[in-house]
Amino acid sequence: MKKCCLLLTLLALLFAVPAFSHSSPPVPSPTPPPEAVKTSILDLGRHLVLVNREHRISKTYIPQDLVLPRVATRKESLQEQILMTREAAQALEALFEAALMEEGHVLYAVSGYRSYGIQQILFNTKVQEVGSRERAQRRVALAGTSEHQLGLAIDLQAPSHLNLSQAFGDTEEGKWAGENAHRFGFILRYKTAWRDLTGISDEPWHFRYVGIAHATAMHQLDIPFETYVTYARMLPEYVLTGGSHVLLAGLIADLMAEKQPEALQALQKADEAGQESALRQATAPYLTGQSYEQALWYSYPTPKPTAEPWVDADEEEVLLHPSGSN
Ligand SMILES: [Zn+2]
Repeated sequence: MKKCCLLLTLLALLFAVPAFSHSSPPVPSPTPPPEAVKTSILDLGRHLVLVNREHRISKTYIPQDLVLPRVATRKESLQEQILMTREAAQALEALFEAALMEEGHVLYAVSGYRSYGIQQILFNTKVQEVGSRERAQRRVALAGTSEHQLGLAIDLQAPSHLNLSQAFGDTEEGKWAGENAHRFGFILRYKTAWRDLTGISDEPWHFRYVGIAHATAMHQLDIPFETYVTYARMLPEYVLTGGSHVLLAGLIADLMAEKQPEALQALQKADEAGQESALRQATAPYLTGQSYEQALWYSYPTPKPTAEPWVDADEEEVLLHPSGSN
């Protein structure tokens, strides 16, 4: 009985800690959403929005729901400075926890949300350092072309490597992050092999949140975000928001191979009531060794509880006033 009480108290303490600290972070006022416009997952402010030199963000854009992720930072003073959108912040906490629990790796968050103005200062500083805008652009994104303005990007370091350089990719922590970030919804955004498409050199420290289904599909296909988005645009919206990584990777691999996936036609034809079964049927040919439910559960795990803990009143009474002598 004592053990039970202790366990309940511990659980209560665990869940009583809020998932995010809202204690006066320097949150800038967000850009209001456009009224009555149905946004797509590919639009600004949503997870699949593409930002690069050709696809710029407006000067005034500020994400809606910036919060402080509760993760380790290199300096304590940075703790109140790193912001990400709520879902990305929660995913980052899960990523850091897994790095520690699974491999004992400590990761540091170095830079999250950056405003247009801050990005402009960073870029101008780099221009002065390297002598030309062209050279600066290889290392620092021009304002309006940085994913950091989305609140969906994070730069990482590790205690063994306290700077942002290519060598982070050779550290145990960097390798682990590159191989595992997709399980938490992040992609390694810039690789040397993709430089012609992304316009950015290898950045093993920069991770972009896109959600688990898309991140895992991209990881499995080993393709850059630019390529993924080109094909993702061909898929119905409900497939992009409700399809598992198995379906997304399967469809996009077929489209890349210029095969017209049979499943795609059925998915396009399905009305709202038929979408769930259309997703299930379309996924079946791509499943290898796992069930549809397992694929779906992996891509869309139940979010961690963030509300008050559920308390069973009856149970509590029994514990407080135990009847009988044993
Ligand atoms: Zn970055």
